[in-house]
Amino acid sequence: PAAPLAADFYGFQAQLSPTEQQHLARIREFLDTEVAPFADDFWDRAESPKHLWPRFAELGLFGHAFAETAQFENSNVYRGWVAMEISRADPSTATFLGVHSGLAMTSIDVGGSPEQKAEWMPRLARGELVAAFGLTEPGHGSDTAKGLETTAERRGDEWVLNGAKRWIGNGAFADLVVIWARDVADDQVKGFLVRTPATGFTGTKIKRKQSLRAVENADIVLEHVVVPESDRLPAIRSFRDVAIVLRLTRGDVAWQALGVAVGAYEATVRYATSRLQFGKPIAGFQLVQQKLAIALSNITASFAMCMRVSQLQDEGVQGDHHSAMAKAFVTVRMRETVALCREVMGGNGIQLDHGVARYFADAEAIYTVEGTYDMNNLIVGRAITGIAAFV
Ligand code: FAD
Repeated sequence: PAAPLAADFYGFQAQLSPTEQQHLARIREFLDTEVAPFADDFWDRAESPKHLWPRFAELGLFGHAFAETAQFENSNVYRGWVAMEISRADPSTATFLGVHSGLAMTSIDVGGSPEQKAEWMPRLARGELVAAFGLTEPGHGSDTAKGLETTAERRGDEWVLNGAKRWIGNGAFADLVVIWARDVADDQVKGFLVRTPATGFTGTKIKRKQSLRAVENADIVLEHVVVPESDRLPAIRSFRDVAIVLRLTRGDVAWQALGVAVGAYEATVRYATSRLQFGKPIAGFQLVQQKLAIALSNITASFAMCMRVSQLQDEGVQGDHHSAMAKAFVTVRMRETVALCREVMGGNGIQLDHGVARYFADAEAIYTVEGTYDMNNLIVGRAITGIAAFV
């Protein structure tokens, strides 16, 4: 089984089954040897570690959430834990993988026909193809439910898509892009499987990004892109169905945020015990110990919330407000934690080589993706009051 983590102060890992722990041990070894040591270099060059794609597939990391592609029966708690571990090694790698196996594959699982699932899910699980998820637009992030401007117009057995998407992870090199567009006939949001390259489709890598640099995000333009009716996701009838996909993946983003905090905390403990000032390790100063205690308390509370939100998903009773609360709470605690860790490192905290700067920068994008802190709190606020403050 996987060894316990010092950052798992209350021993939550014991809740994983023996089989899950065995798989976790293999995944952790892969992350320690093939991901973490190279993460700073990929981040610095703003390149996704694409060579890892076959290894992700081999370890079952793409298909483990779906009955037809999972290598063994596993829980949502296990999958969340794995997302945390990947992010602990490298938040960009967790996002690079999560866009494909989380957002895109879940869209097909939730919205696809049996034929579409049979065509795509095994190939996506084997890593033969890369997938992306195109919802956000240049003019619409938080308000995509109401504001989405990309249009879909039915012409016989085909649809014609027009519009633009922004921030689409893997969007410049994916083989399959799930595009969300508004049907001009009934004004409802529908989902389309766009096979790329496609005439009228362009994906351009966004440059000069300062967070999650090893995720290659794209600006996408759709100019009269023709998609057959057989590539429309038939179970997606409106934005409500898109919200189901986001509910199912948002909990994993909370786990990823926890991984960011754990990665930064571990590097900081190592640093604080070896860095000497005033003739002794800085870990011996009360103010430094207090920062480490706050960081570990944030991590411990976040573990509890992530565990429970995943259990709610396993029990089939998770609501939008449950995953929204976890995403909001864990990301704000993550942001405080990486700031404390950076502070304990002094000047070295802003330099890639000392193990915290990358987490510190990556925390900012994770705080914003899959619903900002504000929007997730407003989802919780709607559950508390029965009044939606954002429509
Ligand atoms: P805006 O919606 O413009 O928000 C700006 C600010 O206004 C925020 O603080 C927000 O909380 C606040 N705000 C907005 N409305 C309200 C309100 N009603 N009440 C209070 N405050 C409000 N999208 C995809 O579709 N696919 C991807 O693969 C993808 N990957 C991403 C990767 C990265 C690195 C990043 C940065 C983004 C990615 N996104 C992706 C987009 C992401 O989901 C959006 O950035 C996010 O939803 C926020 O939208 P926005 O950036 O347009 O901010």
